[in-house]
Amino acid sequence: MSNLFCIKDRVIIITGGCGVLGTCMANHLASEGAKVVILDRNAKLGTELVQSLTEKGYDALFLETDVLNKEILEQNKQNIMQKYGRIDVLINAAGGNMPGATIAPDKTIFDLQIDAFKKVVDLNLFGTVLPTMVFAEPMVNTKKGCIINISSESALRPLTRVAGYGAAKAAVTNFTKYMAGELATKFGPGLRVNAMAPGFFITEQNRDLLLNPDGSHTDRSKTILAHTPFGRFGEPEELLGTLQWLASDASAFVTGVVVPIDGGFDSFSI
Ligand code: NAD
Repeated sequence: MSNLFCIKDRVIIITGGCGVLGTCMANHLASEGAKVVILDRNAKLGTELVQSLTEKGYDALFLETDVLNKEILEQNKQNIMQKYGRIDVLINAAGGNMPGATIAPDKTIFDLQIDAFKKVVDLNLFGTVLPTMVFAEPMVNTKKGCIINISSESALRPLTRVAGYGAAKAAVTNFTKYMAGELATKFGPGLRVNAMAPGFFITEQNRDLLLNPDGSHTDRSKTILAHTPFGRFGEPEELLGTLQWLASDASAFVTGVVVPIDGGFDSFSI
């Protein structure tokens, strides 16, 4: 039987590919034989990442981008099409929270910095919408391709403090489902759009919220872990099985789903 999960030679774009989760995904997909295109605004990290991948004999390309700039994204698309001639998978992983959009325990909604809230919505929502508009076009032309968005636990049920981030990721969840219908009904069932909703992983974005300077768990961490049936945070590598399933023909009849990867957090009450 052929390997349903095979992604060998697929041209896979990862926006935010230099981030903690993006780098983990890039390493895995390249090791599975995919041609990995890292799109990120951090040229230094991107160049280093592609160098480390090519030294291992993998096929990888870095292109500097801004996921909020359609002109730059269009230029990126031209470069990718010149080199590889097609795009099979788009992973929209650029995103994240910003301190001003978070409401500290001693503050309320009336202290919210609306500019920071807007920036978080821009990055997470429009930073998904714009790359989708640009990179779905070659997929539509070949009637085959898939898009994987990164939502969040905060989209499924609001978390305290992260008002802007939760609203933005909820919009990503909704857009994922919208696009699943849009692409399949207008361009055919070879086009799929799904999302992963990672739970709690300690990364640069949330380290200060989850760990004290001495490495011990903050009160917020303790609350999260008490509400997580697995009783621990996730490791970035634990996203990879779902990622490969969604990127491969193993999920050929799956579109519009948002998969929580969260040690049971979303399913659990008391
Ligand atoms: P990260 O901050 O480590 O990486 C984000 C990457 O996006 C960075 O490399 C950054 O340079 C890039 N980026 C930011 N703005 C950009 C722009 N305008 N154009 C191009 N690139 C830009 O984040 P991460 O922890 O790897 O998270 C990746 C995704 O997963 C994000 O969407 C995040 O919201 C989501 N997520 C993370 C967690 C977590 O626990 N870390 C949980 C749930 C969801």
